[in-house]
Amino acid sequence: MENEIKRIALASGAAGVGISSTDRLKGGVASMDPSYLLPGAESIVSVMLPLDGDIIRAYLGKKNHRALQDHETDVYVRLFNICNEIKSFLASRGFASVAVQPNLDYRFKDGKKYRRVPFVWRQKMTDWLSSQSGPAVSVLKKLLVKLSYEKTADYTDWNLVPSFSHRYGAVAAGLAGFGWSGNVMTSEYGARVLFDTVITRASLSSDPMMEDTPCDGCRLCIKVCQVGMVHAKKEDHVTLGGKEFTHGKKGHNLRCILCCAGFTGQDRYKGWSTWSPGRITLPETDEDIVGFWNRFVKDNLWKHNYYSRCISDLVFHSDYGFVNKPYDRFRTTCGNCQFICWETRELRMENYRILTEGGEVVEGPDFSFQPVHR
Ligand code: SF4
Ligand code: SF4
Repeated sequence: MENEIKRIALASGAAGVGISSTDRLKGGVASMDPSYLLPGAESIVSVMLPLDGDIIRAYLGKKNHRALQDHETDVYVRLFNICNEIKSFLASRGFASVAVQPNLDYRFKDGKKYRRVPFVWRQKMTDWLSSQSGPAVSVLKKLLVKLSYEKTADYTDWNLVPSFSHRYGAVAAGLAGFGWSGNVMTSEYGARVLFDTVITRASLSSDPMMEDTPCDGCRLCIKVCQVGMVHAKKEDHVTLGGKEFTHGKKGHNLRCILCCAGFTGQDRYKGWSTWSPGRITLPETDEDIVGFWNRFVKDNLWKHNYYSRCISDLVFHSDYGFVNKPYDRFRTTCGNCQFICWETRELRMENYRILTEGGEVVEGPDFSFQPVHR
């Protein structure tokens, strides 16, 4: 059956496919546990597709944003379709299976508090709060946000725990090893790869795990992160299948979210930016980063500005998986730590040059953004 699964995956367009028993994923962090999505799961199948290098370089160099966003969405949809093919095959053999959403699928959505307020209401409310209005209505909106924000938004756990982490699945199934950034790397493409996973009750033989990580410790992933998400020296460890892996110690997830959701595109490093015109400065440490976020929302959600638009778009991101999200409410702005990290140091250094010499993005009319090349 393992050979047939791999044949189906490769025939459906996968660039890589690997299998792991769920034993390798036991005893770790919550997002490593496949039984959250499928109680009684015995195995996982990890599927990989690479991202196109030319499209990534046009994105890093501020030449073409749309191509990368379209491509990323297309690759995720293709991965999800491949996983559904595998799921159908397993179903035909009588095994319950789940094709996991490829991204933006978090566990807090199953919490009672989150489900208490319907998605549609949340979206309508944040859209209304951030819409244009006269002075009297703006005062009312400001008061409403001040009185109710933390009570109506504390369902969101910003320490996001995915329903299942495809990175752990890829490492367990022998397709990848950990990079210092915490992204996972393949020997062939570095970290410019995306994964999706099928979780199944079929008991399948595991593939061998990678012996060595393709990461050479160059730390360019640290130099392209405007918000200092990963520490350059402090380590963290993860054990999979009895083997210990090392990556850099990560900060609070809000740090990356505030950059990726567009609130800042230039914080630690000047002279270049992400694809975001946002310019807020994050706190140095994570001690009060949730408090910082709550104060920021209260100061901005009721205004009709770039930041209130980012907040209302973020509500959309957290409500949908990647495949189902409304396309016009989503903008890829960063991903630098992953996009920079190709298979050789020479290629990574060229990517770093392209990014840091590629200029900045500034706000254009009607919340659009425009690259400015020096
Ligand atoms: S950029 Fe360098 S240090 Fe960072 S994950 Fe890639 S190879 Fe490792
Ligand atoms: S995606 Fe961007 S903000 Fe997030 S960790 Fe990577 S470089 Fe930093």
